[in-house]
Amino acid sequence: EGGPPKSSNASKDKLLGGLLIDEFDESSCLSRYQSAMFRKVSPHIPSPYLLKRLRRYEALHKKCGPGTELYNKIVDQLKSGQYVGNAECNYIVYISYSGLGNRILTLASTFLYSLLTDRVLLVDHGGDLADLFCEPFPETSWLLPLDFPVNQFSSFEKESPESYGNMLKNNVFANSGDGDPKVKIPPYIYLHLAHDYGDHDKLFFCDEDQLLLQKIPWLVLRSDNYFVPSLFLMPEYEEELHRLFPQRDTVFHHLGRYLFHPTNSVWGLVKRYYLAYMAKADERVGIQIRVFEMEPGPFQHVFDQLLACVQKEKLLPDVTPEEPVNQTAYIRSKAILVTSLNSGYSEKLRNMYWENSATNGEIISVNQPSNEESQQTQKQMHNRKAWAEMYLLSLTDSLITSAWSTFGYVAQGLAGLKPWILFKPENRTVPDPACRRVMSMEPCFHAPPFYDCKAKRGVDTGALVPYVRHCEDMSWGLKLV
Ligand code: GDP
Repeated sequence: EGGPPKSSNASKDKLLGGLLIDEFDESSCLSRYQSAMFRKVSPHIPSPYLLKRLRRYEALHKKCGPGTELYNKIVDQLKSGQYVGNAECNYIVYISYSGLGNRILTLASTFLYSLLTDRVLLVDHGGDLADLFCEPFPETSWLLPLDFPVNQFSSFEKESPESYGNMLKNNVFANSGDGDPKVKIPPYIYLHLAHDYGDHDKLFFCDEDQLLLQKIPWLVLRSDNYFVPSLFLMPEYEEELHRLFPQRDTVFHHLGRYLFHPTNSVWGLVKRYYLAYMAKADERVGIQIRVFEMEPGPFQHVFDQLLACVQKEKLLPDVTPEEPVNQTAYIRSKAILVTSLNSGYSEKLRNMYWENSATNGEIISVNQPSNEESQQTQKQMHNRKAWAEMYLLSLTDSLITSAWSTFGYVAQGLAGLKPWILFKPENRTVPDPACRRVMSMEPCFHAPPFYDCKAKRGVDTGALVPYVRHCEDMSWGLKLV
């Protein structure tokens, strides 16, 4: 127990069970190979088939990535409007959108879709992804070059005529019986899969529509959702997904640790904080407080809810104003890491464990790295801290998270932990129960389609198979269990 160096573990699992390869320059991205020193070895082993597919993907990306001959050729075709088709390389471009937690979950989903469809994943240069994440693929880049010819990509939105949903609405593909030569396949299409998407956009999740999308060399995707659960409901991908993830509830755990390595500047924030405030404790508990209210808080009902949760579930020791008499020589210590936009909750908790003693004699420290007051999506240091805090939460031994928050989902997935989730309060009152342990460490898909592609009518997609269920914190959401 206790912090690094966990040298025996570290040398064993530096490559995270084979998810990572040893081909990167270590100094350019210290977190890639150092993370194993800060985390317990995951009990979840990636399947040999997933490892094989990742290596195959890396080869594809190297062959088709920016700057390669094949990439230049297809970009020239895009420029001249003379798309000839049947390219060896097909692409999906991810447009940066929404808060950092949402972006991480969408990127992981898009990467899984790339694996399933043999596309190369490129990320647009809007936003600060390059400042936050190291390049995940060896000897190439996942950043879409700045001189990419279709530069209105980032302005695509729900109403854009280039969106798949609007093209369907406008009958652009009418009569597209298989191989119908009269239908002109466009070189690119925009996929609007954000929370506000419409019924036509949702047909993305139908096998038949995937047959058509397969023919389009460039897909451009905007989403703020973890859409993986719905991919698991598509017969087309069923077998492949089962081979990739025999243990279905580990999708984000593996893909997240494969893809998202903090850049050196973020890693500095993570390491310094961990070593200063968390490493020496016998046990680490993460508490993530996310409040979806207009006013900044702190709110008494949120603090009361947290206390109700930790007391009922015995996650933190009770307190007493009495001084313990028979104190033993060895004192166990617990470091609580609180992340929140507001400092009020951790201040109250810290005071509680200062003014009182823990009934079990433990010494409790409570720390919070930042309190940024409000969400600011475009500031560099703000986003670095947000990413560092998600990562720090993922280095704890147990987690308490907030309903509806992708920030918490990222932490639990990277950690490989099933958190206790604080239900969303209604009318500013403490929900009963205050929290519950989640069924799996997978994130929740907040805006899934409820459509049966075969029967062409609505269906409860949370009741079709035992491994895709409604989420604990959002009754209409879907998650893998
Ligand atoms: P979600 O809104 O909870 O699903 O999470 P997102 O990460 O998508 O968006 C919330 C954004 O608010 C984050 O990206 C941060 O910019 C900010 N934020 C929310 N909670 C915290 C926190 O505990 N710490 C920090 N540093 N930022 C936070």
